[in-house]
Amino acid sequence: MADHDDWVQRDAAVVWHGFTQMAAYADNSPIVVESASGHEVIDTKGRRYLDAISSLWVTTLGHRVPELDAAVREQLERGAHTTMLGNGNQIVVELSEALARVVPVDDPHFLYASDGASAVEQALKIAFQYWYNRGVSGKTNFVGLADAYHGDTIGALSVGAGGFGTDLFDPLRFPVLRAADCDDAARLVAEHASELAAVIIEPLVQGAAGMLLADPAAVRRLADACRAHDVLLICDEIATGFGRTGTLFASERCGVRPDLLCLGKGLTAGYLPMSATAASGRVFEAFLGADLGEKTLYHGHSYSGNALAAAVALRHLELIDSRRVLANVQERSEELRDLLHDRVAPKPQVREVRLQGLMGGVELAPPTEGLRWGRKVCAAAVERGVLLRPLGDVVVLMPPLTITSAEIHTIVRTLSDAIDEGATT
Ligand SMILES: *Cc1c(COP(=O)(O)O)cnc(C)c1O
Repeated sequence: MADHDDWVQRDAAVVWHGFTQMAAYADNSPIVVESASGHEVIDTKGRRYLDAISSLWVTTLGHRVPELDAAVREQLERGAHTTMLGNGNQIVVELSEALARVVPVDDPHFLYASDGASAVEQALKIAFQYWYNRGVSGKTNFVGLADAYHGDTIGALSVGAGGFGTDLFDPLRFPVLRAADCDDAARLVAEHASELAAVIIEPLVQGAAGMLLADPAAVRRLADACRAHDVLLICDEIATGFGRTGTLFASERCGVRPDLLCLGKGLTAGYLPMSATAASGRVFEAFLGADLGEKTLYHGHSYSGNALAAAVALRHLELIDSRRVLANVQERSEELRDLLHDRVAPKPQVREVRLQGLMGGVELAPPTEGLRWGRKVCAAAVERGVLLRPLGDVVVLMPPLTITSAEIHTIVRTLSDAIDEGATT
């Protein structure tokens, strides 16, 4: 006990946690993880928690997967990192070849970075410069969707819809056209094509907005409008990529092939920070020109194409295949849907249950504001050994893609009890 408090105190004394009010951090019973294994994290008190948020949506096959651990170790023997600026690295070539075979992008080329937000920044800059390189002037604006979330850097915040306490940065955000939904975005594309560089969307599911689901046909109509009016389409699949929605990429479900695709989170199975922007051949070719010339993309991060991350990402792609991970996502999703429908959706404290693959949100229905039901329900679940974290009053369910049937039952039973305990007035 003293030991655990000690870790919380030491933590609070020197660490600044993201999206966390540090004045309240230590009082909110944080879990300080000592180790993680399989689908569980284990805290400094030795308590085990089922990781039902996949360590904020990044873990796909669980923690300490022997094959992934081995991939990191093997690459360590060959060197942890070398720069991608002007030079290459064998493992990054191999990863890119493997990704090229599966991403829904024509003739893709991959520009690597470390965080999702950086992949979005890269996509925005590429889209902007694409038109400049082609000698088309005036196409400098973007369309973003209502409730969009694309990351926390200034460019990503600009195309994002705000909220989450980010509105104070409004003076720093560049203006964009904001669409209510995909059909509204298609209308804006038709009306403003001559001033638009690109449209950016989270296809199928807007994760951070609280798992809002889009109609795949509407996503398709937007993609068609982009094609027809010569506006680039950026799909941010940082949350939906790598099997989360039941197919490897959500764009596939919508029948869409974007010009630019942003990858992150599950790319390395949750092992190492790596993100990527995949550009179609058409976009890539617009940047070809004289050496040191102005068509060059003058952008690149220090840890772009990190070799350890590339090694684990490559092995991860192989495992998604050999372990039939997508089939598990589809089967467990059906099971989760049925269980939530039977045991959670009928509760008076629940407004709506949303699920696509293993991306789920249970929206609570507090009778008045300020009851912090999301926070209380998740705290009650954590008490019972299931790690959950809300987005406002939406309880997020994002279990690892290898979650078992028994664990799905545990999550729903725990959530049901936690709602009964935490969602009261
Ligand atoms: C998480 C997320 C990001 C940002 O990724 P970071 O790695 O946190 O910078 C961007 N877009 C979407 C859709 C996300 O879910």
